[in-house]
Amino acid sequence: MSAGTPGCIHEEAGWRGADDARASLLHTLRAMGAARLNVGTSGNASQRLEGGRMLISPSGIPAERCRTEDMVVVEADGRYAGARAPSSEWPLHHDVYTAFPAAGAVLHAHAPFATALACQRLDIPPFHYMIARFGGTTVRCARYATFGTQALSDATVAALQERSACLLANHGMVVLGRDLEHALAMAIEFETLCEQYWRTLQLGEPVLLSEEEMAEVIERFKWYGKPRA
Ligand code: 13P
Ligand code: ZN
Repeated sequence: MSAGTPGCIHEEAGWRGADDARASLLHTLRAMGAARLNVGTSGNASQRLEGGRMLISPSGIPAERCRTEDMVVVEADGRYAGARAPSSEWPLHHDVYTAFPAAGAVLHAHAPFATALACQRLDIPPFHYMIARFGGTTVRCARYATFGTQALSDATVAALQERSACLLANHGMVVLGRDLEHALAMAIEFETLCEQYWRTLQLGEPVLLSEEEMAEVIERFKWYGKPRA
């Protein structure tokens, strides 16, 4: 999908749950601020809708000033309805939903510790077993591209292969979840992991877990937190 300017459409009548979905998205956006993942107009959030559509936060409005009606429905082809422009990162959100069918929500943040690592263009190595929460033995840093561009979207999709989080070079982070609640919890966990790595680096080079040690962790995460059958 190209990052062209979306045009206007009339919103499809009868989309049930629209108000609830808008309220949940706004709640998530504000929770990202409360968790210090975002400040001001930094970052954005979206939820997958049926038919290749998504609901996404508006561009350039701080979360505390957003109202539920400011949340924007973007069609599969980028058209949208209403007075608010969708987040400038809507192509990235759109392409992540296309590439990863299990993703129900996407959050993007300029969270302080994730961004500090991203500005060093660092992949996060297996310094702590919790890295496996995000799908593998590393979390990648996507190559740098200007915000809101197709190049950034492409870099993000590449960095997210078999992962549920990535850093964006000189920018921030992207996290996927089953739904908004899950994505928010994962984003908070990811920023915590980034803080732990940042603090570890202050002491010198960490001792990394081996491939065998990480393979065991990844195996245990398959049943972690689930009741025994
Ligand atoms: P928007 O306000 O357009 O969502 O942009 C914020 C941002 O973080 C861009 O990367
Ligand atoms: Zn951003």
